[in-house]
Amino acid sequence: EIVIVNKNYFGSYSSFGIHKEMISDKVRTDAYRQAIVDNPSLIKGAVVLDVGCGTGILSLFAAQAGASMVNAVEASDKMASVASQIAKDNGLLWNESSNGNGVVKVVNGMVEDLIESKQIKPKSVDVLVSEWMGYCLLYESMLTSVLIARDHWLKPGGAMLPDTATMFVAGFGKGATSVPFWENVYGINMSCIGKELVEDAAHIPIVDVIDGNNLVTDTALLQEFDLVTMKPDEVDFTDSVQLQKKSSQSTITKCYGIVVWFETSFTSRFCKEAPTVLSTSPYTPSTHWAQTLLTFREPISLGSKALANDSLPVGSDASPAVNINSRISIVRGVEHRTIDISLEVTAVG
Ligand code: SAH
Repeated sequence: EIVIVNKNYFGSYSSFGIHKEMISDKVRTDAYRQAIVDNPSLIKGAVVLDVGCGTGILSLFAAQAGASMVNAVEASDKMASVASQIAKDNGLLWNESSNGNGVVKVVNGMVEDLIESKQIKPKSVDVLVSEWMGYCLLYESMLTSVLIARDHWLKPGGAMLPDTATMFVAGFGKGATSVPFWENVYGINMSCIGKELVEDAAHIPIVDVIDGNNLVTDTALLQEFDLVTMKPDEVDFTDSVQLQKKSSQSTITKCYGIVVWFETSFTSRFCKEAPTVLSTSPYTPSTHWAQTLLTFREPISLGSKALANDSLPVGSDASPAVNINSRISIVRGVEHRTIDISLEVTAVG
């Protein structure tokens, strides 16, 4: 059964549309390009492993940047053959008779399955590069495959690109929901629709771009992964965070839910010349990952410490919370590469 799911998963990557979407995401592709091309002391002469090469774009960047050998692994048969063709058309495909011209070797298969085949020597890789991130960082993410590859092929002290991944959360206000739209439709009150949509959203995460202006709390760090040291089962976690009303927000403001986003970094640990960060924050230009919105069943009114202590003006919400305590757990689902997210919130007055 899992095999079938796998087939569909890799089948979906053989559509060129997905690769176009990823490559056109300039925030994403420029971050990888900078990490690979602008750090010659890391890449020049290095043996590189690209886990999930797709079109081969990252492998070709590495070859252009002077890598001595690039192992480009791709599970999708179609993409592996396309990547070979592209490497060849650009004069970068490795073959026995290429007189040392090409350095890109495309290997077709799931990276986990290559351990048996010994096509790549164990502990022979200086730099492991991979674009493995999914929605909410971990949905459909290939992170565990990347960690398996790291443990088998990366030399001790070898580099991971990226080398850290960090998840953040913040509370969002009405402006990030469809509530305002339905409140006034050509002067007609259709707010019952907005209300129903918010109720429905409480059961399912929504992937959408939200603007930093619609965040009503400060940002809190949810989870940080060190890709050099983390163990594969550390992708499952439960964490508690406190969210406090942004000081720039009006006295009482309603928080409709929590938005999750991530950053991956190419830090100076390995990228000595040009460290860089790939951010999917609502405060920076949007990416194809957008952000992930977890909507509360009912909005929580947020006040300030001063307000909670003093008596509230007549007619306002009774005792708004001073902050929101939330417990978020993200664990791998039973189906291949899905994740289960659970969110518990308590308003702390
Ligand atoms: N590196 C490319 C593609 C990234 S998308 C780029 O940056 O544009 C991720 C790719 O990894 C997909 O093409 C997918 O088919 C492949 N992939 C996912 N899991 C894999 C695994 N376990 N082994 C090999 N390839 C995998």
